[in-house]
Amino acid sequence: MEAEKKITLAVNGGIGFGAKLSPKQLLTLAKLVEEDTEIELTTFQQLYIQIAESKVEQVKMELEAEGFSCYPVGAYVKSLRTCNFCKGAEEEGMPVAIELNRRIAGHPVPFTLAPAYTGCQNACGEPLVHDIGVIKRKDRYELYIGGKAKGEDARTAVLFQDQLTPDELYANVEQLLQIYQQNGKKRERFFKFIQRYGMERLKLEMGL
Ligand code: SF4
Repeated sequence: MEAEKKITLAVNGGIGFGAKLSPKQLLTLAKLVEEDTEIELTTFQQLYIQIAESKVEQVKMELEAEGFSCYPVGAYVKSLRTCNFCKGAEEEGMPVAIELNRRIAGHPVPFTLAPAYTGCQNACGEPLVHDIGVIKRKDRYELYIGGKAKGEDARTAVLFQDQLTPDELYANVEQLLQIYQQNGKKRERFFKFIQRYGMERLKLEMGL
């Protein structure tokens, strides 16, 4: 009999004080995957697990009931990488990070896109080496775009907008993703897209 197709799911414990999982969550995870499967720890603060296609929805429900967040793997926006919010959830804007993640994680894009958020200018969440990076400064937000951590052409992101309110931040990021999705070539990375499309054209289209 032909083996059932496996789907890769990315899971983590959602946005909180660091990328943490409880022993209870790990036990749940262990029960839901097959014994001989491999669990991959990625640099995106996610675990990759393989699930038989027919069981994906059921497994997602059970994982979410245990406090996991589940995301698709491939050409999608990754879940937001965050810092540890060491100065407190409110001061460091954890609700804003949660809302931003809710709005963008899992959205289809031409090439996998990694966003990062950090609660102060110490930038522990490494926002400047991600495709989209956010730094909270006092009660406003800075938005950086076009960072790349890997490869010989690694680069830091550049400041796109600053002094943003939370609503302006969400709107800017969502608009950027929409323009990228509509105009990016298949498998064109975000930084390459920005180079080709042009920063000024992006701003013009966004009315900035
Ligand atoms: S970026 Fe700031 S708030 Fe976040 S963990 Fe680092 S020092 Fe703490």
